[in-house]
Amino acid sequence: MILNELWSLRSEALRASAGDWARPILDLLFPPRCFGCSTRGAWLCADCVPQLPHVEHPICQICGYPTAGTKVCAFCYKTRPKIHGIRAPYYFEGALRDAIHRFKYKHAKYLAEPLAHLLLNYLQASPIDADIVVPVPLHQTRLAERGYNQSELLAIELGKALNLPVVARCVDRIRPTDSQMSLPAQRRIANVRGAFYSVDKTIAGKKVLLIDDVCTTGATLESCTVALQRVGVSSIWGLCIARARFYLR
Ligand SMILES: [Zn+2]
Ligand SMILES: [Zn+2]
Repeated sequence: MILNELWSLRSEALRASAGDWARPILDLLFPPRCFGCSTRGAWLCADCVPQLPHVEHPICQICGYPTAGTKVCAFCYKTRPKIHGIRAPYYFEGALRDAIHRFKYKHAKYLAEPLAHLLLNYLQASPIDADIVVPVPLHQTRLAERGYNQSELLAIELGKALNLPVVARCVDRIRPTDSQMSLPAQRRIANVRGAFYSVDKTIAGKKVLLIDDVCTTGATLESCTVALQRVGVSSIWGLCIARARFYLR
């Protein structure tokens, strides 16, 4: 058991530091283990994916949270978000939470592909019309610390699979913000208000698919939307892998 753990830690460290070219070799030497059931062969196996906690319908047409049956939830009815809609098929829990944590904080860039695959599955069943894929940017300080923007890695995988251009530098995060997860609901909107800025006129008229890994209240996506609308994009849909189940807004 302990040896197994050590073996797995060692293989994760190797994977995190290895280049993309080495991934097939590492996958052969250390087959991926499912985050749900630890079976070898995939990061999220075919048995565990259908069991990931997914958001049940009916949902709000705008924010995508479950409703009691109304088309739009009370929050969206009151606040009239500028974003056309947000979809996040799963809740940020269990195996998916573990996978996203490793993807974001443990340099596990190799998880971009299986995680983006979940979004592709979702889009197959519920397509979103888009011309370009735009990742939610990180502030440059955080980007320097982490070395990569996890949302951009997801956007690249989606762009490849959907045959859509990824426009990663069209919106800037002009000031660092605290992690939304760490803040009470009332402070989240203020935390990200005016945090994004865009001057990229080349995306005017485009339908944007805005990608983030996790959303809580949707405040980050909304703030990005305000910046993108200033340069005249025609529509913006937010797509995240997972969302918080419990929240107050
Ligand atoms: Zn599994
Ligand atoms: Zn709503």
